[in-house]
Amino acid sequence: MNEQANLLESSTKNLWLPFTQMKDYESDPLIIESGEGIILKDISGKEYLDGYSSLWLNVHGHRKKELNEAIIEQLDLIAHSTLLGAANVPAIRLAEKLIEITPENLQRVFYSDSGATSVEIAIKMAYQYWQNKGKQKKKKFVTLTNNYHGDTIGAISIGNVDLFHRVYGSLMFPTIKAPFPLQYRSPYSGEAEVKERALTELRAIFQEHHEEIAAITLEPLIQGAGGMNIMPGGYLKGVEELCREFNILLIVDEVATGFGRTGKMFAIEHEGVQPDIMTVAKGITGGYLPLAATLATEEIYKEFYGEYQEMKTFFHGHSYTGNQLGCAVALANLKIYEKEKLVEQAAKKAEVIKSELAALKRLKHAGDIRQLGLMCGIELVQDKKTGKPFPWETRMGYHSTLEMRKRGMLTRPLGDVIVFMPPLASSDDQIRKMVQIMRDAIEAVT
Ligand code: PLP
Repeated sequence: MNEQANLLESSTKNLWLPFTQMKDYESDPLIIESGEGIILKDISGKEYLDGYSSLWLNVHGHRKKELNEAIIEQLDLIAHSTLLGAANVPAIRLAEKLIEITPENLQRVFYSDSGATSVEIAIKMAYQYWQNKGKQKKKKFVTLTNNYHGDTIGAISIGNVDLFHRVYGSLMFPTIKAPFPLQYRSPYSGEAEVKERALTELRAIFQEHHEEIAAITLEPLIQGAGGMNIMPGGYLKGVEELCREFNILLIVDEVATGFGRTGKMFAIEHEGVQPDIMTVAKGITGGYLPLAATLATEEIYKEFYGEYQEMKTFFHGHSYTGNQLGCAVALANLKIYEKEKLVEQAAKKAEVIKSELAALKRLKHAGDIRQLGLMCGIELVQDKKTGKPFPWETRMGYHSTLEMRKRGMLTRPLGDVIVFMPPLASSDDQIRKMVQIMRDAIEAVT
């Protein structure tokens, strides 16, 4: 058996891939071996455009010289030492940088290793903040329909995706559910009414339960895994105002939206929102190494500060928290943002994507096309006029993305919503090519 055949067989025998039905994988295995710019290459030498930024995190393309060098330089010093009770140099420098680029009220950085863990930390931090403050009743979390914050038990508890609740419901803690201001298929007459209705419902929830509510969690401006749903303008600001009125913490999850994906460094900047807690991951290392951070205000931090005997310590921390290699590559990544004025560039790329996606609107089964910056979702439907979905078992999204793969582009669907989230480094030509592949594949499959 040659090396390639051996790898294919071994991948189906020994691996268990995340969020993957292995029976699907077995029927058409894919093994990536290398990458260059926004191109990924599999073990047979076939090339693919990275249409989903290797799951929403790659920024500058693969094998970016400066990032490779930052890791090698750090390796010559040390790869890892614990952050429990001991700081390290890159973790300090990165914390300074994160504080500089996020809203000015966020003054403390707590590291972890994935989006989900940064959210777990946000939950425990908000919860313990109120306990330490003597507000024992404030224990509940409010979440919006279809929120996704990761797949650990805490993160799926404050998430609101039906599927996870069906499967893991009895493991999760209960939350208060509020409606997401969904615009597609809304019975209301436009963006402003969708916003007002959702804020009115949220106000009623806050009014009734504010004494028990610790925090509300949301993905600012665009819900990612919940279907690429965009909030109406002003909704996020409205939530912030309600939080201040009712003394409820605002937790924003910028894991997917952060680092330029929406055309601003962080999505909250579109509406000048200042959260109490903010989570970041994915693009923080340019897509290189697992690193995440939860940022908090000084007001929150000080409720944890005191004599050990007061038992206010934040009891959380992972083995690889604040890893030196991760922090070093994140610093190098943020330097490139400055040097290449990447956020401005991203806003320009978004315009190119917008004009290219306009052609997809004509497709018979493209029900809705949603875009915020470089985050796009194309919702496939059976009937465009009514928005009637395809029967779920037809798996139109899945089959369309398989067809895209055959044609040289990788992405993953969210049900029948095709995700298009190219790296910030994609050229205009590459964007055009990817949109063309999506168009041809959707046409061929639906
Ligand atoms: N939060 C949001 C908004 C996400 O989109 C994701 C992942 O897609 C997560 C959290 C979880 O991140 P991770 O997969 O790194 O745990």
